Amino acid sequence: MKSISKLFRFGPGPSSSHTIAPSIAVRSFRSLLEGKEITSIKVILYGSLAYTAKGHNSDKAIEDTFAPYPCEVILDKETKVEHPLTMKFIAMKGEKEIIERTYSSLGGGEITSNDDLRVIEKDIYPFRDFEEIKSFMKGKGLKNLKEFALLFEEEAIDDYLKEATLRMFSSIEKGLKKDSLIPADNNPKLIWRRSAGKIYQKALEIEESEARREILMTAYAYAVGESNASGEEVVTAPTCGSSGVLPAILYYEYKDEGVPLEKIKDALYVAGIFGNIVKQNASIAGAIGGCQAEIGTASSMGAAALCYLKGMDLFAQEYAAECAMEHFLGLSCDPVDGYVIIPCIERNGMGVLRSYDAYLYAKYVAPIRKNEVSFDNVVSAMKLTGDALGDAYKETARGGLAQILKEYKSST
Ligand code: SF4
Repeated sequence: MKSISKLFRFGPGPSSSHTIAPSIAVRSFRSLLEGKEITSIKVILYGSLAYTAKGHNSDKAIEDTFAPYPCEVILDKETKVEHPLTMKFIAMKGEKEIIERTYSSLGGGEITSNDDLRVIEKDIYPFRDFEEIKSFMKGKGLKNLKEFALLFEEEAIDDYLKEATLRMFSSIEKGLKKDSLIPADNNPKLIWRRSAGKIYQKALEIEESEARREILMTAYAYAVGESNASGEEVVTAPTCGSSGVLPAILYYEYKDEGVPLEKIKDALYVAGIFGNIVKQNASIAGAIGGCQAEIGTASSMGAAALCYLKGMDLFAQEYAAECAMEHFLGLSCDPVDGYVIIPCIERNGMGVLRSYDAYLYAKYVAPIRKNEVSFDNVVSAMKLTGDALGDAYKETARGGLAQILKEYKSST
């Protein structure tokens, strides 16, 4: 498993797989061009990257990062590739190909390449799953995941997580103040005026405490989801598409429940370890595992973090993380016209509520009835389900809501 900092990257939305990762790949490729006479760049995008490049702004992110080189982006929807998020870069001198490299996006802004091994991030945790982590912790007498993580992370991790917390909160506070339209190339299906601020105002009018809490959390999740869809900076948690869930739960605990910032930051250790287990054993990318891999993982991370903030032990954290994921199993990734707007923003809102429900189950149901499903079990089930989902349901904008809304709008 890699550093948990790799789950909380800073960058522009709307997609860690489709904007942040390609930009990182371009920067690595560009470093190979130094001292060479290059006149232009040819880029070929395959799989999900080809199907949703426009809505996800992949072509623009790539062109901007290659500037001032002239750059031609080709969307190849025909060629079958092993990895659904594959991109090929070719540096040209006139008509001659000088250097070619192929990269793949793994989700959450991580990339890999058989041609450019410099981009491969190192594993720092020598564990495969949560069972191994629990057994190690038991042997060492460790009680919490922060203590565990600090045995393997670099010293700078604590400052990094503090910065991540502040940036998450800044994204919520900025998002609550905006009411502009989310840019979507004047697509009539996707006229979405930012609504987080109005939802927040509505929440303040609600007297019933449970409903008020749910609508406040929704407002916070929307604030980030709408910022992400607008291409503004967010913190991946674990991806851009699902970046509203964990921050919303943390911000609610900070702002509305008065939990100190230092403790909120420590909850990222907990969320990070659970997210890492999913990333290692299944996937956090919608293009690989469907939306269960993004919103399901984010909701698991939020549930475990909330249990930690409420003073609950490791077993409760595992129960909540498992429960949150289990009830997102099978959720497909079907962004309408390839924009991270419908259903993505609302899914962040529902994701945070599921995190809270899972915490309540861990607190009140778990002591009555033992959970038969471990976190590792649900991650394995998520991988099986993701592998079985057809390509149309994995960030290609060809199935589910993307298909239905396309057909409905074209018939009216
Ligand atoms: S549907 Fe889910 S996985 Fe797909 S882009 Fe939207 S948030 Fe990401």
